[in-house]
Amino acid sequence: MKYVIVTGGVMSGLGKGITAASMGRILINKGYKVTAIKIDPYINIDAGTMSPFQHGEVFVLKDGGEVDLDLGNYERFLDIELVRDHNITTGKVYQAVINKERRGDYLGKTVQIIPHITNEIKERIRKVAKNSKADICLIEIGGTVGDIESMPFLEAVRQLHNEEAKEDVLFIHVTLVPMDAQGEQKTKPTQHSVKELRELGLHPDLIVTRCKQPVLGNTKEKIALFCDVPPKAVISAHDAKDIYMVPLQLEQEGAAEYLLSRFELQPKQDLRIWDKMVERMRSATGTVQVGIVGKYTDLEDSYLSIRESLKHAGIEAGCVVKPNWIDAEEFENNPDSVHTLSQYDGILVPGGFGVRGTEGKIAAICYSRKNNIPYLGLCLGMQLAVIEFARNVLGYHDANSPELSPTDHPVIDLLPEQENVVNMGATMRLGDYTAQLTKGSLAYRLYGVDRIVERHRHRYEVNPDYIDEIEAAGMKFTGKNRNRMEIAEIPEHIFFFSTQFHPEFKSRPNRPSPPFLGFIRSMLK
Ligand code: GLN
Repeated sequence: MKYVIVTGGVMSGLGKGITAASMGRILINKGYKVTAIKIDPYINIDAGTMSPFQHGEVFVLKDGGEVDLDLGNYERFLDIELVRDHNITTGKVYQAVINKERRGDYLGKTVQIIPHITNEIKERIRKVAKNSKADICLIEIGGTVGDIESMPFLEAVRQLHNEEAKEDVLFIHVTLVPMDAQGEQKTKPTQHSVKELRELGLHPDLIVTRCKQPVLGNTKEKIALFCDVPPKAVISAHDAKDIYMVPLQLEQEGAAEYLLSRFELQPKQDLRIWDKMVERMRSATGTVQVGIVGKYTDLEDSYLSIRESLKHAGIEAGCVVKPNWIDAEEFENNPDSVHTLSQYDGILVPGGFGVRGTEGKIAAICYSRKNNIPYLGLCLGMQLAVIEFARNVLGYHDANSPELSPTDHPVIDLLPEQENVVNMGATMRLGDYTAQLTKGSLAYRLYGVDRIVERHRHRYEVNPDYIDEIEAAGMKFTGKNRNRMEIAEIPEHIFFFSTQFHPEFKSRPNRPSPPFLGFIRSMLK
């Protein structure tokens, strides 16, 4: 097993995750099987309880793991499916060690960060790498070198480097090259952060420099000299127009050849599907405007996978998809403003929790239903579509979901098997479940098969007591998992499609999610 360990310096938000994922992509292009591990030094066990407002989207894996959004980038760039063990957090590591201590596994020893915590980290890394059957395992260490939280992880990878064969573990350090007022590229922050790394006993093999402009030859030489690497091991990762262009940049800079040569490996092939995808993206013509009516609109990262899924669908459909973030509460404060939705080619209501903004979202759904504007509803976006339909078509004016308000017409409700669970983080239906699609429905036409597997993250369901009545009035449930309704669509509408699952987690740059593609295509009609 070969390991590529990615650390970050100078400051957070440099795009370390994208850099690491792009490295993985160019190694795949050369014929190697790559997997990825994200280390998050926070104490939370996982991202399940974290607010998307603070931390960006909670990404859901096929096994139901609720993880950092970087795992989503890995799945998209590497075109793989990961499981929860690929996200290692301080919380998971300490919990495991403390459980072992309580069981007496440490035979009376004093349990310490070194060796017990570091051993647990290494064990987890090795196990995950082995189970993935990959040739190369990327390990991204969250945070910035020098943070207190990441110290045990840096020490663990230092030990890993010592224990494995010398040519099997490489370190990539991602840093910043700022420019001064005269436009000169400054290397001091990089020098300092590499110095900090070396104080911990780690030496970078490749230095990836983030910069507004391409990093110049003499800047690279200076970094090489001060940081003790050959000049070709200093890679320019300047700002790209789109994150999917970063792999091409790194490839041009010779990063793949360099890494492989250091691993004593040969390129096995020269796969060009990624380049072709980027080419299609560049040559797209026309733009469609999508209005995304949500809650966490201040932080676009809260809906990262949705944004990417729209992009993927655009690449396939040959157009540029422009997401417009609309705060649902605007329609509550100012009901007339819902008419501003007429400027969009399509309306999307994403998933969410809690009552805030839901009445505004219902108003937006009502507007797109009545005005025949393409609508895509995801998870809460489907539940609210059912509520809107029950209120305005069936005439149950107080129809609602008990999550949002007490009601005599709970068209969305907990199914009996879910009612008695209370423990946070244990109550949700998470990860992969199948749905059976109705032949002849829009769902069936979009997917082209009658059985699909998609990822979930929800507690509430369409209440089976109302299904017949809703269907009789024109909204059809065309995807089902026994008594659970997975898809609701309105056949009469140009495109009114909503899912209890989250199709955005399985969309890939080269393989857009069918509901997203259908949504975008319906706007081009
Ligand atoms: N809050 C809703 C539920 O728990 C929807 C969840 C979601 O949109 N992810 O069922």
